[in-house]
Amino acid sequence: MAELKTTQIVGNPHLEGKYIAEMDMWPLEDPALNRLYPFYDNMKQSRWTTTKCKKCGYISYPPGVACPNCWSDELEWIDLPRTAKVVGMTETLAGAPTGFDSPLIIAWLGFDKAHPLKHLLVRIINCQAGQLKIGDEVKFVTFEVPAHPMDVKKESKTCERVYYAFEPIKK
Ligand SMILES: [Zn+2]
Repeated sequence: MAELKTTQIVGNPHLEGKYIAEMDMWPLEDPALNRLYPFYDNMKQSRWTTTKCKKCGYISYPPGVACPNCWSDELEWIDLPRTAKVVGMTETLAGAPTGFDSPLIIAWLGFDKAHPLKHLLVRIINCQAGQLKIGDEVKFVTFEVPAHPMDVKKESKTCERVYYAFEPIKK
């Protein structure tokens, strides 16, 4: 059995370094199990990307395997600008869902006109309670998610994982 990582920023329950696979909320990001694996591969290089339709130009977020506008599956990966402004937010100081530490900060972000996205609801990390204000600038950031064992063609291996959130831009 491969050594499993534990991380500072958790999203699933840990019990003495082991966690319950049934309660795992993170995707398996390996090409053998996930058609959107480029999203995670790019994230491992700190890139925030999504899919753009080669036929009609429609940009989807989250990324997909077919265009929701014209149903073409000829898509390309594009990089998204990585900064935004906080439009609204909540801070859960106690009673955060299982596996999340308090404060759990969730923000409604607004992007500038040149950005393919208008808004995004996202988790804010690396931020103390009471620190974030509406109007603050935040940026895309990745963090390690506990690795997960997986079976591919009768072989067990470890699926290394990352995910993203936003964090305040230090002034
Ligand atoms: Zn399309």
